[in-house]
Amino acid sequence: MTTQLLELNPAQAAIYTRSNLRRAIPDFDETDIAAINLRGDSVIVVRTDGSEQVYPREIIIAAYQEFTGRLKDFFAYLGPNYRGPSIWHNNGYILFKGWTYGHALGHISPNAKLQEAWADKFIHIKNQTKLETLLQSEHADLGYLIAPDGFRYMQSPELGSAVVDPQDNNGESQPKVNEHQEHAPYCSCGSFTRQMNNIQDFQQEIPGYKPTCIHLTWLKKYRQLLSERSRVRTEIPGGAVTKCVAWAYAPPEDHISKGRFLLLHTTSGSMAPISHWRTYKPNEVFTQEHAWDLFFSMLGAGYVPFPLTSLPQLSTALKNK
Ligand SMILES: [Zn+2]
Repeated sequence: MTTQLLELNPAQAAIYTRSNLRRAIPDFDETDIAAINLRGDSVIVVRTDGSEQVYPREIIIAAYQEFTGRLKDFFAYLGPNYRGPSIWHNNGYILFKGWTYGHALGHISPNAKLQEAWADKFIHIKNQTKLETLLQSEHADLGYLIAPDGFRYMQSPELGSAVVDPQDNNGESQPKVNEHQEHAPYCSCGSFTRQMNNIQDFQQEIPGYKPTCIHLTWLKKYRQLLSERSRVRTEIPGGAVTKCVAWAYAPPEDHISKGRFLLLHTTSGSMAPISHWRTYKPNEVFTQEHAWDLFFSMLGAGYVPFPLTSLPQLSTALKNK
């Protein structure tokens, strides 16, 4: 039997990694791997002792796709003060890395402080390359430029001056955008860039493949949450919100533990004094990983969420406790 070994192209090298093999195959042994090769519909793992194991390509592809588009927790991409993505130009947004929420002292970390100082100023940087360099520099690592609906460069009357002419940057042209990509989603992160730059190889491996990343997945979920929240609010008869949830989050004290996610609920409106609020499931411990599901299930029950920090009567009462 002849074994035809081909060098992996960039897409294959991103898909058939030992990490994705580990994700796809229970008890996969990551040690003593001499080579990962492809043969027909199979992935061949060659061990240093010459032995081989054969796995179906499709299960590694599935693991790659699941991992690349996985949903990170609610706090993973919020800026200081639970700030969501900031609008930039051309239908793009700044997505902040959640430096404030990774650790109890995250809010005083240099990265969070830089985010705070810069958050409202990114709009003044109209050049995409300059913006991305600033966001993703080694020292700052503040976040990403993301366009879930693609960039829009056409002059549009209703948007007026918010639309930036891509040529209008001291003669520098905008990179990474051509006619084909104009309406395709975009993220400036390394993973998305790698997929975009090797799209033909990826599509050869996975027919119809479209680049994605954890940031696009997160933003999609965040938008769903906002639209669900406004749907619930507008459907309340008379418009007065009585069923409310106040949520608070305490980031972990160390790098092993999880944070604590706390919910209080009332049927007396968001201004109700603290005596009218009850802890939601006081005997259960919630972390950042429960936040998405809890938000959606509360909204499903008609409860509108508010950050506890935005309700002075609660934040003051809890501070004094
Ligand atoms: Zn991304």
